[in-house]
Amino acid sequence: MAFSLVYLDSISSPLSGASLELIAAGRRLGDPVVVSAQPVSDESVAELGAAGVSGVVVPENAGTEAQTNFLTFETQLLAIALSETEASGVVLPNSLNGKEIAARLGVKLNAGVVTDAVDIAEDGTVTKSVLAGAYTTQARVTEGPLIVTLKANSVEYTAPAAAEEPDLLEIPVEDPAPGARVVEVREKAVSGRPDLTAARIVVSGGRGVDGDFTPVEDLADALGAAVGASRAAVDAGWINHDLQVGQTGKTVAPQLYIAAGISGAIQHKAGMQTSRVIVAVNDDPDSPIFEIADLGIVGDLKNVLPQAAAELRKRND
Ligand SMILES: Cc1cc2nc3c(=O)[nH]c(=O)nc-3n(C[C@H](O)[C@H](O)[C@H](O)COP(=O)(O)OP(=O)(O)OC[C@H]3O[C@@H](n4cnc5c(N)ncnc54)[C@H](O)[C@@H]3O)c2cc1C
Repeated sequence: MAFSLVYLDSISSPLSGASLELIAAGRRLGDPVVVSAQPVSDESVAELGAAGVSGVVVPENAGTEAQTNFLTFETQLLAIALSETEASGVVLPNSLNGKEIAARLGVKLNAGVVTDAVDIAEDGTVTKSVLAGAYTTQARVTEGPLIVTLKANSVEYTAPAAAEEPDLLEIPVEDPAPGARVVEVREKAVSGRPDLTAARIVVSGGRGVDGDFTPVEDLADALGAAVGASRAAVDAGWINHDLQVGQTGKTVAPQLYIAAGISGAIQHKAGMQTSRVIVAVNDDPDSPIFEIADLGIVGDLKNVLPQAAAELRKRND
């Protein structure tokens, strides 16, 4: 059977849902081999095996300062892994890094790259979401191996019937562009909430929160959800810019998106309208957000959100 490569930025134990999805997508193209630029623990190798991965490729110098922050090291690693395994395709996360590595690899190998994928068929046909999620298109590469970046929450993972301990392959990798080095890495303060782009539930607040995100954050915590925001809320300085959803922010497609105090401007919709279920809370019954909402609640978010959070907590007790 042909191989496929699955690039994972980081490998947690237990494996994250996002990693399992990428592995499931890779399985459609061939026997999945995971490639990681970071060291992989024995525990993680065993977990990858249980997820149906047949091989794990890491650089001999994994995690050392040999890596630059221009992703040339990761690109080189994948290029070598591709030539070693003759894999038919590479699946990467649809993150900024994933897309940049995909683009670099595509140029290096003169291979076709498809980003923003939401599905991959066994014959290599990729379905992608375009024009802010208004349409889906299908694409097939005509040159070299398929290089595809997959959006989170797109492909269902099911555990394989049989699993074996994967082979661990350490390969020497020379960074082709070692001109710049990472001299310091600082951890961002963690909120304890799920990552906005991968979360299954997102609660977003807009100008209607009037400077106080507490009701939005509290409902998000009651739901185990990520917090998002409109640009108006971000521009007002009420919340961090990296939580902005929309054309010039993040694109999200969770199972449930709750928009509170957000009017539904086209630029905001561009980042969330492919969400499976949209709930809007707005005190203006004529607000355009209700046009795309599956469930609309006309009311003051300062009343509605705390009631919803209290009810959820009561049910969970
Ligand atoms: C080039 C460009 C790119 C842009 N990119 C983005 C982007 O990425 N993301 C984005 O979001 N915007 C973006 N915008 C801005 C966008 O056009 C809107 O201005 C913005 O989305 C409005 O944010 P909002 O809905 O929070 O505010 P508003 O449009 O002011 O809406 C606030 C809503 O809250 C409601 N409300 C007020 N008080 C309450 C209350 N107590 N309870 C319940 N409801 C209440 C109001 O009825 C209103 O509907 C962009 C604009 C441009 C020009």
